[in-house]
Amino acid sequence: MSTLQAVVFDWAGTTVDHGSLAPVRAMTELFSRNGVSVSKHDVRRDMGIYKRDHIRRILQLPNVESQWSDVHGAAPSGEDIDRLFAEFIPLQLEVLAPHSQVISGVAETVQRLRNRGLRIAGTTGYTRGMMDILIQSAAKEGYAPEISLCPEDVGGGRPYPWMCQKIAIDLRVRASAAMVKVGDTPSDIEEGLSAGMWTVGVSATGNEAGLSHEELNLLAKHERKLLLEAAADRLELAGAHYVVTSVAEIEPVLERIEAKLATGKRP
Ligand SMILES: [Mg+2]
Repeated sequence: MSTLQAVVFDWAGTTVDHGSLAPVRAMTELFSRNGVSVSKHDVRRDMGIYKRDHIRRILQLPNVESQWSDVHGAAPSGEDIDRLFAEFIPLQLEVLAPHSQVISGVAETVQRLRNRGLRIAGTTGYTRGMMDILIQSAAKEGYAPEISLCPEDVGGGRPYPWMCQKIAIDLRVRASAAMVKVGDTPSDIEEGLSAGMWTVGVSATGNEAGLSHEELNLLAKHERKLLLEAAADRLELAGAHYVVTSVAEIEPVLERIEAKLATGKRP
């Protein structure tokens, strides 16, 4: 095994929805409707994990837990999480369509990867219903992974490797070292590492920078540089083998991975 066979891309913040804005909007609204104020930072902290797990994780933040107890008279329970998740689904579905645009350069880059013989797949922290909206709209813009899995498909999401492992089985990939996981959050990197794959973080288009394409371009050059360095630091801290600014910049990194594979190196 000396060549890569497949690349697994995350959805929001990696291939669509520059800045991963849709989940922040829906999650903030969910908590606001329940009398609890959560910051963008609170929401972005554990982005990428399954949305039900994400709600539970936000509720565990000390400032959120204390607000919840003040408003609702008791610490959040399992029933509260179930109810919040049910309430979250329509909120998220509502804001998905306006935030489903394919990130600049993704469709063209993925086409070139396919031309090199790479298989393309996707994973997400969204539910099946949410991901299906993205699959349909992205296909119209020329981005269509041949398989996309969500946590419900395999009984759990990130940081566990199961979505990636099921993709390996479905695509008949010969070794996990022949696969690359690409994503915009530390939980994406943890997922790829748990699956024994190479991992590539994207710093500019996703959750760690947290800005739309337009907002990012409005920043002064030095501000943008600092923001992207901090984003890259968090992805590297999570263990990313490489960090690029966006999927459009990934080809040189894949070539470096192939060069490593050729000398017998493994993730
Ligand atoms: Mg993402």
